Amino acid sequence: MLKQWLKIIIFVFFPALLSAGSAYADLRVFACEPEWSALTQSLGGKHVTLYTATSNRQDPHHIQARPSLIAKARRADLLVCTGADLEIAWLPLLLRKSANTNIQPGRAGYFMASDHVLLLDKPTRLDRSEGDVHAAGNPHIHLDPERILQVATRLTHTLIKIDPSNQTDYKQNLSLFTQKWQNKINLWRKQTQALTDKSIVVHHNSWVYLLQWLGLNQVATLEPKSGIPPTSAHLSSLLSTLQQKPAHIIVHASYQDAKAANWLSRKTAIPIVALDFSPALDESLESWFDRLISQLSGAGA
Ligand SMILES: [Zn+2]
Repeated sequence: MLKQWLKIIIFVFFPALLSAGSAYADLRVFACEPEWSALTQSLGGKHVTLYTATSNRQDPHHIQARPSLIAKARRADLLVCTGADLEIAWLPLLLRKSANTNIQPGRAGYFMASDHVLLLDKPTRLDRSEGDVHAAGNPHIHLDPERILQVATRLTHTLIKIDPSNQTDYKQNLSLFTQKWQNKINLWRKQTQALTDKSIVVHHNSWVYLLQWLGLNQVATLEPKSGIPPTSAHLSSLLSTLQQKPAHIIVHASYQDAKAANWLSRKTAIPIVALDFSPALDESLESWFDRLISQLSGAGA
């Protein structure tokens, strides 16, 4: 009789316990932007389940902390965002409402990519009259492939900290990602050689990391001040500057209104490039960056 019971315990309950264990092995990750979702997917592989708060059709500076987002944040084991105030208009509220201790600032499940790299454009003085300035520095670091590598290493540390049982996989995923990404960097550098030192006009000051990496010169922004939509006075002064000293490309994010860029391009015959500011749904970082590079090198050739 006792033997019989032992059999039941071993064959019925033990597998059930095991499968319950593996269901919990999945890390639920809440990513603020598609780039961090794509990176976490590459590094976490089969051990992560992702939810992304924004798409590349949205302005990540401004979204609503909707109840559906709060519900997802409530169940997350890990939060992966940009930080450096990019999400300041919605993330603090979202975190408060989620009441999820795992992902609060200071906890292992709170990962801000910008905490792990050097930021450009740190303002020397804080003046709200200068527009929507990012006090910590420019947060749009995902456009620099070298910084992506630094973030990847730190994010892997975080995955291992939260889920040490799968550390072998996480380390292997990181080395695979690093190898592929490094090969891509070499390729992108070759493809963009002709862009070096070309001058460029941008809509919002969101491309500094990419431009610095490519050696492009940003000569103007369509926004008169950061976060303030283009005005006709600003655009006409821009036009006269560009008529004297033309630029090579006008760049805006595809989620931004193209009206100002179109107007300036018509008047100056400078080509426009509308770039996706983030990967598309389920798109890898490699493929998204491939698109950026081919669009830019096509326009600057
Ligand atoms: Zn910004």
